[in-house]
Amino acid sequence: MKTKAIIEHALSGQRISPEDALTLLQDDDWTSIAAAGHARRNQLHDPSVVSYTAYRVINYTNFCDVDCTFCSFKDEIDSDRGYTLTLDQIAAKTEEALALGADQIFFQGGVNPKLPLSYYLDAFIMLRDKYKVAIRALSPIELKRLAENIRTPLPELLRILKNTGVGSIPGAGAEILTERMRDVLSPKKLSGEEWCAVMGECHLAGLPGSSNIVFGSVETPEDIVEHLRLLRDQQDKTGGFFSFIPWVFQAQTKRFPIRHVTGREYLRLLAVSRLFLDNIPNIEVSIMVMGKELAELGLTAGANDISSIVIEENVLKSSGLKTLRAAERFIQEAGFTPKRRTMNYEFGKYTPFFNAV
Ligand code: SF4
Repeated sequence: MKTKAIIEHALSGQRISPEDALTLLQDDDWTSIAAAGHARRNQLHDPSVVSYTAYRVINYTNFCDVDCTFCSFKDEIDSDRGYTLTLDQIAAKTEEALALGADQIFFQGGVNPKLPLSYYLDAFIMLRDKYKVAIRALSPIELKRLAENIRTPLPELLRILKNTGVGSIPGAGAEILTERMRDVLSPKKLSGEEWCAVMGECHLAGLPGSSNIVFGSVETPEDIVEHLRLLRDQQDKTGGFFSFIPWVFQAQTKRFPIRHVTGREYLRLLAVSRLFLDNIPNIEVSIMVMGKELAELGLTAGANDISSIVIEENVLKSSGLKTLRAAERFIQEAGFTPKRRTMNYEFGKYTPFFNAV
């Protein structure tokens, strides 16, 4: 099908094929595709509303024995430069986050085989019982390696984590899930099938989460479409992806080739994601990575959420919004009504600042 017919097909609520997605990704008429992404978003969500949330990232350790070529965050196991946060340090960071209005902790770090299960459980129980924050924790590679280290089947580990307060699993570490790109990014990380299988186990355990793509390297349009197909197929099976977030790679190391992603390329991919991922309800635009100007345009190309106010992020240097009030102002100035949500997309718990005074 040609672009116009594909757009009509998608806007009539029908599923478009991977071949259709490839056609859209390669079409220069990006404004029509962005408009279609926005139209589809308006069919699925209140056109006047953009949602947001607030969390603090706690990168609990940077010791890691995985060697992602794009990563400058990790330190070798046993290096004297690396760190692992103590329980007191995690508590202090959580208290700072609560004071700024966050209601979630995003607990993620390197793959550190020296940490026992008790390290994680002590942290999660403290976050749940003392601070009563929502916990999104441990990407698929961290989960899989932890399960192996403690010789526990993954479903049993997930049951334990859920019982100690974990409520969501970040879709981190996906980057681009094709075999060709895994070799470029990180041969030691999970394959695309393994990543999807771990996320599927999380969904079945009652732990929903996010999904994403990180692009802007040597990936091809075919790699991008295959990545989206893997996510859509997994969502058909287990249904636990609340959201999808497109990001671009940041310059971190000299070992990993990155390229400039143009604004129109980003907006086109955002819109194609909205049209192709018909079973993932929320498309987030990342202010932290993309900046305010492009993020604002993303709200008219398929996105219905500005991702989050990220209070700390060590892996990427944040250029995001720093306060709840700034988030609401950003959304209002973009022409929408801000609506705060919880980690797992529940509404109604919060009163917005803008009409609270
Ligand atoms: S991206 Fe994560 S898993 Fe990969 S090397 Fe860095 S810390 Fe380790």
